Amino acid sequence: MAPSFLFMLFCLLFLAVIVNAADLYKALELSKSASEQDIRKAYKRLSRKYHPDKNKDAGAEEKFVEIAHAYEVLSDPQKKQIYDRHGEEGLKAHESGQQPHANPFDMFSSFFGGGHPGQQQVRRGPTSITEMEVNLSDIYMGASIDFLIKKRILCDHCRGTGAASSSDIHTCPVCGGSGVQIVRQQIMPGMFSQAQVTCGQCGGRGSTITRACPHCGGAKVLEHTQTYTLDVPRGAPEGHEVMFEGEGDESPDWEAGDIVMRVRSKKDKGGWRRKESGLYWKETIGIEEALLGFERNLTHLDGHVVPLKRHGVTQPGYVQTIKGEGMPVYGQNSFGDLYVEYTVVLPKEISPDMQRRLRAVLHGHEGSFKDEL
Ligand SMILES: [Zn+2]
Ligand SMILES: [Zn+2]
Repeated sequence: MAPSFLFMLFCLLFLAVIVNAADLYKALELSKSASEQDIRKAYKRLSRKYHPDKNKDAGAEEKFVEIAHAYEVLSDPQKKQIYDRHGEEGLKAHESGQQPHANPFDMFSSFFGGGHPGQQQVRRGPTSITEMEVNLSDIYMGASIDFLIKKRILCDHCRGTGAASSSDIHTCPVCGGSGVQIVRQQIMPGMFSQAQVTCGQCGGRGSTITRACPHCGGAKVLEHTQTYTLDVPRGAPEGHEVMFEGEGDESPDWEAGDIVMRVRSKKDKGGWRRKESGLYWKETIGIEEALLGFERNLTHLDGHVVPLKRHGVTQPGYVQTIKGEGMPVYGQNSFGDLYVEYTVVLPKEISPDMQRRLRAVLHGHEGSFKDEL
């Protein structure tokens, strides 16, 4: 694909220029192509992980401060630009005479909204829930299943601004960047009402774009198909949910919501059935097996063989319980039971000779077919 190749080439050239400026990105475990949202997400994840209240490891606090510093710089478009171009040295030159660094702990609590009332909450995008049917054998053994999800991602060319370049973004001339307009209406002569309405020029964004991004056509987001791996734990209950945090549709207006995958077992006709940790199987036997007993092998979901053994008569519909051969109990190291229900099939027809012999057996005398008539 040409655009992504060009983008990579662009990144490589860019990298060559800023090769000495890798540390702040490294602190957030990001690459230099990370988006604003990636940076937020990384800070959110890592600052929680290394917060000294939680993490008592040696060096955790140091790491926490480092993460805060990286976020402070990379979340500020101006500082980020200086850092990307001129590295930490350029940043120091820029910052001389400016306010000192933010307190990493204040930053943390303001980010998570703790103790700062009135802090604007970040809007979250919608969470999508998808039901996924998996083979019962995958639940029996546990499995990793790759699947594709179509979602919207921020355009990587304009980083979700919708503009061809940052010089194409202008403060809205109508609202002056506030996103709202004051509308004066005369209710009666000499009397006016004032109403605040969303700016019609910029749609409330406070900025207008002169040249739209050629990559997304100004839409800010692109359709994207991404592969994820769903880990199905052994014995996962029906409706088990696996969350992919922050992997929902991206938008410049919100922090991406989550993707939730809800796991269910596929219902195969005539196959295995499960009810919680119980496993159900229907086995068909012939009349002689039903009357005289039998030994059979049942191949289990993972291929191991369960011997089915019966002595004497097995009634149609009889359910045999086999301990410990059911589904794994979720989160435990044990198994439920297997219930085998027997269906007896009778022969479609039997020969006159067989009829005579059966009568003899069942009635206890050697009568001929004709005698009975
Ligand atoms: Zn406006
Ligand atoms: Zn774009």
